[in-house]
Amino acid sequence: MSAELDWGNLGFGYIKTPYRYVSRYTHGKWDEGALTEDDKVTISECAGVLQYAQTAFEGLKAYTAKDGRIVTFRPDLNAERLEQSAKRLEIPVFPKDRFLQAVDMVVKANRDYVPPYGSGATLYIRPYIFGSSPVIGVKPAEEYEFRMFCTPVGPYFKGGAKPITIRVSDFDRAAPRGTGHIKAGLNYAMSLHAIMEAHRQGFDENMYLDPATRTYVEETGGANFLFVTKDGKVVTPASDSILPSITRRSLCYVAEHILGMTVEHRPVKFEEVKDFAECGLCGTAAVISPVGRIYDHGNEINFPSGMDEMGPVTRRLYETLTGIQMGRLPAPDGWIREIK
Ligand SMILES: *Cc1c(COP(=O)(O)O)cnc(C)c1O
Repeated sequence: MSAELDWGNLGFGYIKTPYRYVSRYTHGKWDEGALTEDDKVTISECAGVLQYAQTAFEGLKAYTAKDGRIVTFRPDLNAERLEQSAKRLEIPVFPKDRFLQAVDMVVKANRDYVPPYGSGATLYIRPYIFGSSPVIGVKPAEEYEFRMFCTPVGPYFKGGAKPITIRVSDFDRAAPRGTGHIKAGLNYAMSLHAIMEAHRQGFDENMYLDPATRTYVEETGGANFLFVTKDGKVVTPASDSILPSITRRSLCYVAEHILGMTVEHRPVKFEEVKDFAECGLCGTAAVISPVGRIYDHGNEINFPSGMDEMGPVTRRLYETLTGIQMGRLPAPDGWIREIK
């Protein structure tokens, strides 16, 4: 039975659902894990996560496909990325098969909260892992929790995908050889001031440049860039300090192998950006949100696709990937995991 929420008008906020998954790491191993109805976390005041931000997270979605099946999109890649994040933060790895099993359990237990096909809403799943035991001298915690909850979220674009305006940030997101390539909470803590400043100045997002030379495009606080050249090529910035977006990787695969386009994943100079025809931000939340304008200290880049709608290539990519996710188009092998 559906939870009867007003699916079309949900925002992107936390709504408590009945069940979440918890596994605890003590004495050097993960326990068997279980679902719980308890939404509170009880940890030491001195827990590693609270004192030294020893935590990483993931984000993925479940939704109802056209044929009524409940599915998730490439959750194996979220499991692998969390493994990379954990290793970099000296957190014990939560095994991939158990991650996938937890996704199945959480979605199944909360299936009344999976929005219906066509509503535009989805069930957002948040896996996270953190040091739970006391740490005062700087070192990794000895105990950890892996948790996963879910919350229904509304359509990202209400009333159509309007292009956004972003600014080139004076702050940096991630240092060379730092933690930009992992999904660590600490990368977000330091981005909050930059995003609030951007909002106060009337911009929707920040474009971060490479901190070493400030000449290459990195990403925004939570999404990777995708550009389209005037001759129809897809270009995505490559850098060791960009978080490898699963949406961006999937869009590039779609562009190359399904739509027959040329795709380049390479360092992109900021200087080149003014010559692109389209620009979008890729991430699980929106799939692609179109960028119409970039402000750079008094100079403006206005993409030919304008401020009214997505550019034509961006739209094709968006329609194709969402078509695959929603079961309207055939999916490449292994992309869709059905929750039975
Ligand atoms: C999560 C995230 C993205 C988007 O990744 P997806 O896997 O597509 O959701 C992009 N950049 C940063 C910094 C992120 O944390």
